[in-house]
Amino acid sequence: MKKIGVLTSGGDSPGMNAAIRATVRKAKALGLDVVGINSGYEGCLVGDFRELDLKDVGGIIEEGGTMLRSKRAPEFKEKEERAKAIRNFHQEGVEGVIVIGGDGTLRGAKALNREGIPTVCVPATIDNDIYGTDMTIGVDTCLNTVVESIDRIRTTASALERTFIVEVMGRDSGYIALMGGLSGGAEQILIPEVDYDLEKVAKEIYDGYKRGKQHMIVVVAEGIYKEGSAAHHVGQNLKKQIGFEVRVTVLGHMQRGGNPSAFDRGIASRLGAEAVTTLSEGESGVMLGLQGHNIETVDYSEVLSNEKKIDMELYELAQTLAQ
Ligand code: ADP
Repeated sequence: MKKIGVLTSGGDSPGMNAAIRATVRKAKALGLDVVGINSGYEGCLVGDFRELDLKDVGGIIEEGGTMLRSKRAPEFKEKEERAKAIRNFHQEGVEGVIVIGGDGTLRGAKALNREGIPTVCVPATIDNDIYGTDMTIGVDTCLNTVVESIDRIRTTASALERTFIVEVMGRDSGYIALMGGLSGGAEQILIPEVDYDLEKVAKEIYDGYKRGKQHMIVVVAEGIYKEGSAAHHVGQNLKKQIGFEVRVTVLGHMQRGGNPSAFDRGIASRLGAEAVTTLSEGESGVMLGLQGHNIETVDYSEVLSNEKKIDMELYELAQTLAQ
């Protein structure tokens, strides 16, 4: 293998740049040329490629987002469209591609691999909803933002004896809400994986105030309510039941932004470099996953046919500690 490509796709996450840097620098150390593919799979379709050298990835390890940009390209789901991408790769002499992104991105990488372009995936999404890896790139930074926000909200919540609802990302997965709530010391955590009863939540909040609690923080995942804003739904309901002031904060896109944490830069560097080694040794059709302290390869089919489950012991622990 003489030349490889690298792309980022789907929702961006902090640490993608560190993964691109690692990919380029490791490839160069192995004597490979690297082509950066702009705008994810869209760049594959239109041949938007550029040569990347050591210096091109200087000064990006600390930056959020992705220097290669990341777009959604729904047409990439069509085989005839992907044939264009494959022709572009052949023309450019790209013999394998490192693909950095989430679940949808992995499906695209699997299709490319099957159709003749070897690919290796590096999992990057703030949702941490990918089977086969303990953590994805960007989750830790996102959690730090969530916890910092909860800390700030608690300061004002204490001063005013109000209940605060904090909505975090997670349409199908409650991971951010659970870990953000556990680490932020939230009183209640509502996630899509567990049915909730707002009357019970209201009673627990009321009892908490009677026990002398100064503040109440309820962390809700956006996916617990499908017909509108989860936080406003919970907020209005609780206000009616407990009679206290309830304030709502939706953290939104700030959870995706910011400079990557040391942890995210570390795993992005390790996973990006290992992806190059894997591809250059002739292995493909695999994602690199962080399992404990080790990096393991996991077949795309295994990743995509399994669902990552929330750790219910942690959910119960969060409840115990919130009393
Ligand atoms: P993420 O990778 O963050 O989950 P998306 O689900 O938006 O983000 O997927 C990113 C891109 O991956 C899509 O825009 C599309 O180009 C490609 N993709 C998603 N699903 C498939 C699929 N089933 N087959 C081929 N390509 C896909």
